[in-house]
This record gives sequence, structure tokens and C-alpha cells, in this order.
Amino acid sequence: MKVKYKLQAISKLLSTAGIEFTDKEAEIILRNALNMNVIDIYRDDPELTDKQMSLLESVVSRRTSREPLQYILGHVDFLGLKLQVGKGVLIPRPETELMAEYAIKAVSGQRSAVSSQENSKLKTQNSKLNSSQRILDLCTGSGCLALSLAQEYPDAHVYGSDISEIVLRYARRNADLNGINNVTFLQGNLFEPFTKLLTLNSKLFSFDLIISNPPYIKSDDIRNLQPEIKDWEPLNALDGGTDGLDFYRAIIPIARQFLKDSGILMLEIGISQADTVAQMFECSGYKDIVVQKDYAGIERIISAHNLV
Ligand code: GLN
Repeated sequence: MKVKYKLQAISKLLSTAGIEFTDKEAEIILRNALNMNVIDIYRDDPELTDKQMSLLESVVSRRTSREPLQYILGHVDFLGLKLQVGKGVLIPRPETELMAEYAIKAVSGQRSAVSSQENSKLKTQNSKLNSSQRILDLCTGSGCLALSLAQEYPDAHVYGSDISEIVLRYARRNADLNGINNVTFLQGNLFEPFTKLLTLNSKLFSFDLIISNPPYIKSDDIRNLQPEIKDWEPLNALDGGTDGLDFYRAIIPIARQFLKDSGILMLEIGISQADTVAQMFECSGYKDIVVQKDYAGIERIISAHNLV
């Protein structure tokens, strides 16, 4: 069978399985499984060998059982990083990539604030400019947020925590694969790995930025999600409890103990959660609460300062 013919056949099979955008997916599957580029496919249109046919068959049967394409390919691109993903780890989403960009901007804002203070001190005291920052990513998963920040700021130290040992194996491997070594991943629930350390050395374990994409879907809404999510992705990375807000209640008040003065807490939120979460920030005494929308116009990212 010729490649172009097979491409159409795969697209039809995917569509029968209820998958959207099947032409694009069929092409991605074919290119990845057979290591072909667009020219190989559309200009040369070679005859497929038996080995290639059976390889494609196995990939397509995984996909028609609604396994996420990213698990089958084994990796995703995230802000210039190549991250391995697979069963047990939440697939990073475009809105989280957007949050990584906002977080990078927030850190750069803190840096310019520090450097202008230091510059004015320099004139009088000749003090040294110290811009190295500490950043914490809670519920780090694949490590996408922690690693984007660590890559952007090689002189910062980034910590990531997660309750799941499986995801930490991915996160650590992703750090290695991308040559990132200013990141430390620790196992535990939210702040747990840092609580003891904070009492030992409060200077070392307070942070300029705490960031998180916690589980935020209401427990009852999980069953309405598409099969790729509800049947394949880790539910403990999605389920935010009865009202979806369990993790915000757990993170927002406590984070202040771990933030430096004027440190920032930035959280991804689910649809229609912005007002309630903003109230939680306010009740805990944060200032400058800002909500930002994602590419679909949904209020998705909320951040605030720990100002005293
Ligand atoms: N954004 C994910 C989804 O819609 C949910 C991730 C989360 O709960 N943090 O499937």
C-alpha cells in the first residue's frame, strides 16, 4: 500500500473512533511512526513495507482506543523544551505554556526591581548585584513549569514538588534530557517537603515565586471529560474535589509563609473559578491580584503579591 493511501485510511479509522482533526493526526502518526517528513509522504509517496504496515497498525489501534496522541508519541513540545510524557503524568496544555510565559515575565519584573534598588545602593555602598532567585512549582507533574523557568533563568534555583513518585521520574528525566541542572524535584504533598526545611533555614526556603497548576476539575465533572482525559490521564492531577477548589484552599493561605516579602503566587485556574479564587487571595491578605485570560478568552491565570 502507498503512503498517501494509508494516510487517508488512518484518517478514516480515527474519525470512526470519534476523534477530531483526523487528517492532521493521521499525518503526525505516520511521520512519527515511520520517521518521514512531508516531502517523503506527499512527493515520493513510497510503497509501505510489511514491517511499516504492522508498526502503523499498532499505533493506530492504540489511538483508536482513545489513548492520547502525546502518550503514543511519548513527548510534547513545551516552550522550546522537549518533555517526555506517558501514563501517570498529566500532558502539559497550551494554557499552561501561556502561564509559563507569564511567570517568566513576573520573574524578570522582580529582577529589574531588584537591580534598580541595587544600582541605587551601588552608588553609595558598592554592594554586589544579587539577582539569583528561588522558585517553587507545586504539583509539578512533567516538570513543565519548573523546567521552563529553570531554563530561562539558569542562575535561579527552582524546586518542584509532587505527591506522585511516577511523575517525579518524568520530571527528573526531562531535566536531564534538556540539560537543566538548576532544578530539584522533591516528593510530597504540596509544601510538605519544605515544611521541615523552612524551620531549619527560613532564608533558604522562602521563595520569590510560587507557581502551580493544581487539579481543579470538580469531581462530578470528570466523567464528562473526553475519553483521552478521563480514561487515560492521572485523575489525581485533575480532581480538585467537590467544588474543584480544594487545592486553592490548601495552597493560598499557607503559601505566604513560604514567600519572601513581595514574592508572587501564580496559579492556573479552571473555568469560572476566578472570582472565588480571587476572594481567597484577598482573605489571606495578598495584594495586586491580577487575572489573565488564555487563548480561548477564559480567565485562566491568577497571581498576587505577598505584600505586608
Ligand atoms: N487543564 C486541564 C484540563 O482541562 C486540567 C488541569 C488541571 O486540573 N489542573 O483537562
